[in-house]
Amino acid sequence: MILKKYIKINLIQPKSKMNEKDLDEVCEECNKSEESVTQNLIKYGFKVCDSCRVSKTIFPI
Ligand SMILES: [Zn+2]
Repeated sequence: MILKKYIKINLIQPKSKMNEKDLDEVCEECNKSEESVTQNLIKYGFKVCDSCRVSKTIFPI
C-alpha cells in the first residue's frame, strides 16, 4: 500500500509540472503515439516508447 502511494505521488506530481507538449505521448525516436511514452518520460527522462527505451537503455547516446 505504501509503494502504491509512493508511485502515485511520483507519477502525478512531475506530470503537472510538465508542458502539455510533453504529454502528447509521441515518441521522439519513432514518432509513434503510445501511452508508454509519457510513463517513460516520467520514469526515465526519455520521451520514448517502450521499444525505443530498450534500445536507448542498451545503447545510450
Ligand atoms: Zn519509439
